[in-house]
Amino acid sequence: MQNSTKECKVVCYVGNDGLTVLRCPKCDTTKTIDTNSQNFAFKTFKANCKCGVLIKGQIEFRRYYRKTVRLSGFYLHRETGIRGDIIVANISLMGAGFSCLGKHNLQKGDQLDITFTLDNPKRSTVTLWVEVQSINEKLVGVKRRDSEIQQPDLGFYLR
Ligand SMILES: [Zn+2]
Repeated sequence: MQNSTKECKVVCYVGNDGLTVLRCPKCDTTKTIDTNSQNFAFKTFKANCKCGVLIKGQIEFRRYYRKTVRLSGFYLHRETGIRGDIIVANISLMGAGFSCLGKHNLQKGDQLDITFTLDNPKRSTVTLWVEVQSINEKLVGVKRRDSEIQQPDLGFYLR
């Protein structure tokens, strides 16, 4: 059984930029993987971390799958500190769309933290650093800026 304690499974979610970060669960060492410059036709790999852990990695390319949801939460404007309640209407690993419950002054390019609760059994709370990409009458579209941060609960939720 000695081997099993030194093995870790890690899922790496690939961002819009084709980059993903492999993080060793044991020692937190990170390594950026560029799936553009390497042939990642295969989706699994093994890597030895310097701490001795054998990482069994899995590359996830599901970039654009968008799940239609209805999740309540709020945004926090990173510059102004203004906060507002939102309903998240769709979510993907790359971004989200939400409607604001009150008036808002959001503009394209604004940086926000959006926090919402998933309707999974764990009721996981997810906070994402996002940038406003589009504003329609009812829906604010945002893309994630924190693709380097793994969100295991969100990844599992979108499965
Ligand atoms: Zn390590």
